[in-house]
Amino acid sequence: MKPFLYITQKNCPVLWMAITASPTTLVFDKEERSLNMKCFNHRDADAVGVCQSCHRGLCVDCYAEVGNLLACRNRCEEDVARWDFIAQKSVTAYSANYKIYLWTSVFLVVVALPFVVVGSFAMLNEPSSGIVALFIGFVFLLFSLVLFRTARKMR
Ligand SMILES: [Zn+2]
Ligand SMILES: [Zn+2]
Repeated sequence: MKPFLYITQKNCPVLWMAITASPTTLVFDKEERSLNMKCFNHRDADAVGVCQSCHRGLCVDCYAEVGNLLACRNRCEEDVARWDFIAQKSVTAYSANYKIYLWTSVFLVVVALPFVVVGSFAMLNEPSSGIVALFIGFVFLLFSLVLFRTARKMR
């Protein structure tokens, strides 16, 4: 059975965490529109989905869509909306984090450059202070590289 949302731990770890931490599992199958389950309210009707808040099976008449999630109509919509809100928020926070990592990495290169340039020239006349400047420059570059790689993994 294919899940309703194609979110995996790999392609979207934060959202994945938010969803799995919520008291829900996405089991609504869009293609087959059926589950081996009956509606909680109408025992003879097939469930087409499961409420994301209380896990009751829901038939076509009983479900409400809240964002990308399903809820019992007139009962759990508010609860599910809250989860959907958290999920949306974490997507935004996630891309903000990505940008912070990337820009900090760029910033560190800018900070490192004068140390490397000045350090290289100082090596000619005053190697003892030149090596210190070069060392500081390379430490900044190393941090920059680590942040850049972290940012790229988040993509
Ligand atoms: Zn419900
Ligand atoms: Zn029903």
